[in-house]
Amino acid sequence: MGGDLMTGKMVASICPYCAVGCGYYIEVVDDRAVGIGYMPDHPTNEGALCPKGNAILDVLNSRDRLRHPMKRVGDGWARISWDEALDLVAKGLRNSLKKYGPASLGFLASSRCNNEENYLFAKMARMLGSPNVDNCARLCHAPSVVGLGGSLGTSAMTNNIADLANSKCIFAIGTNFAEAQPLASRWVQRAKERGAKVVVADPRVTSTSWMADLHLRIRPGTDMALLKGMMRAVIDEGLVDRKFIAERTTGFERLSRSLDGFSVESAAEACGVSAADIAKAARLFAGSSASSLLYSMGITQHVCGTENVRACTDLVLLCGQVGRPGAGIMPMRGQNNVQGACDVGAMVEFYPGYRRSRDPESIELFKAAWNVPDLPLGPGLTSTEMMVAAVAGSLKTMYIIGEDPVVCDPNERKTRKALENLEFLAVQEIFMTETAEMADVVLPAAAWAEKDGSYTSMERRVQWIDRAISPPGEAREGLSVICDVADRLGLGFGRRDASEVLEEINRLIPAYGGMTKERIGRTGGLLWPCPSPDHPGTGILHTETFPTSDGRARIELVEERPPAEETSPEYPLLLMTGRIVLHYNNASMTSRSFPLLRREGDLYIEMNCRDASGLGISKGDTVIVATRRGEVEARAEPTDKVKPGVAFMPFHFNGANVVTSDALDPVSKIPEYKVAACRISVRS
Ligand code: SF4
Repeated sequence: MGGDLMTGKMVASICPYCAVGCGYYIEVVDDRAVGIGYMPDHPTNEGALCPKGNAILDVLNSRDRLRHPMKRVGDGWARISWDEALDLVAKGLRNSLKKYGPASLGFLASSRCNNEENYLFAKMARMLGSPNVDNCARLCHAPSVVGLGGSLGTSAMTNNIADLANSKCIFAIGTNFAEAQPLASRWVQRAKERGAKVVVADPRVTSTSWMADLHLRIRPGTDMALLKGMMRAVIDEGLVDRKFIAERTTGFERLSRSLDGFSVESAAEACGVSAADIAKAARLFAGSSASSLLYSMGITQHVCGTENVRACTDLVLLCGQVGRPGAGIMPMRGQNNVQGACDVGAMVEFYPGYRRSRDPESIELFKAAWNVPDLPLGPGLTSTEMMVAAVAGSLKTMYIIGEDPVVCDPNERKTRKALENLEFLAVQEIFMTETAEMADVVLPAAAWAEKDGSYTSMERRVQWIDRAISPPGEAREGLSVICDVADRLGLGFGRRDASEVLEEINRLIPAYGGMTKERIGRTGGLLWPCPSPDHPGTGILHTETFPTSDGRARIELVEERPPAEETSPEYPLLLMTGRIVLHYNNASMTSRSFPLLRREGDLYIEMNCRDASGLGISKGDTVIVATRRGEVEARAEPTDKVKPGVAFMPFHFNGANVVTSDALDPVSKIPEYKVAACRISVRS
């Protein structure tokens, strides 16, 4: 829809899907969202939207939206008043607190909710004494928070998205950004038009690999071998940036020694690609005047996810490819506010502003700021550990906002058992998700365009949006719900609007210090760090120094760790999961859009044509996909996009995570979604 035809009020907004943070306008007539207006002056999407972004009004206008608070009665639901619902949630939390203590409470914040909601939700959890507050970054980029943060001092994209156009070489490993963050590919394309080389490492042929000058089709789970092979080649060919290493890093000699005895040829053998291609990739990346490394869940969702992130960072540091236009490391993040939820402290390892939760100084700082006598030392239980604790019976009560662990966590059978085991579960949502179906109380929430607040995109861009329309029925803004629950528990939050909470964030998180509502409410907002009201924001990090104790980046030793499971005669194929362009997360939002559903609406599995014909499987057959955790039906899609022995399923549709692995990276506690040994057979 174009602006010329618009007659209603145009309210600036942000796409609620991926973390690119595209801007657009919602056309409002009589408190209804009736159209979309494009925003050509937005610095990241320049007016464009991907298929998901173009379909966002279907979420706001869906008849399936939750409209009234409900409580479970037997196997069904009874509509209740807000007062009763809030009393029940407060009672559930209070009972658990009294009987079992604060560690029995688990809080799951939301990468889809705004910064103010996440901040206050995490504050409520900690003021109740529970260190167990987390968000779904645990399932996608917890290794970036830990690994990148440890090496560089910050855990976000070093450069803004548009700066990709300045890169002369773009190395994408474990990311299908052309589908997962479609508008980011606009800037990669622009770099290509200026002559940049694109190298993609991915076991599959994807929309991203089609952009590549060199596609390294590595075996699943061999990213570390590839990265070490590239580092070996960089060292052997004298491409190390010695000046950068000497002036701005520590740890090079140790890493270099650890690579003794490791050859490009051994990397090639492990990865299933040629040594010449690994050396070529290394030369392109190290030799260009400005290279960017992009990575995502193909790197992080492994039992060695944190090590993989460290290896990516080491490669960037070895080559001195950071801190300049076109040179940086870019974790490609999937959800609209996953960066912000972590920034404001909805994560077990950190109080707001990445102050370590295990550090007594953090506790003292927030005790004073929040005027409370005590706060819990962390880290508490991660979201993945909360499920284990619930199965074991030590976690008794959960309050979940805007997340659907039944569909999104690995090993669905275990997740259901965990939630069944709870004495009380409250879910605050916009649709009746599988997780909400298991709750004792369901609280209907406002969607992004029905409330005020700020969101932080993956490029650290913080943008404020005003409420465009009212929520449906009795649904309420999440912030007021959190405040009311907190007040019933004696925490004295009062009724606070989002701008007041943002002011508290401005005071307590230095990087957000200058991000007033007025400033981030302008088109494109501001990129953190923005420490003062006159600071212009920061497009490129680490231009002079790193925010570490000595100002230097850490080149870390990396430890290879094999995938938690291997193929066997019973489970001979390796299954990976990932995103597709038409859907988002658990598809609870995108499935409300007929145009998206019509194009892709059910669970399918890509398998190599040779494997399919060997098993007597044809295109469109219904097959059973079985792993050590369970089985699920899917539509077969034989293709040469995956190599023999490998299979791929999109994770958006219910059932995909029945079969995925819940083995955890011991450092970041992310599950290994990317490697599950499976068996595929025709449904009899
Ligand atoms: Fe932009 Fe991502 Fe939304 Fe697509 S899904 S319009 S790329 S923010």
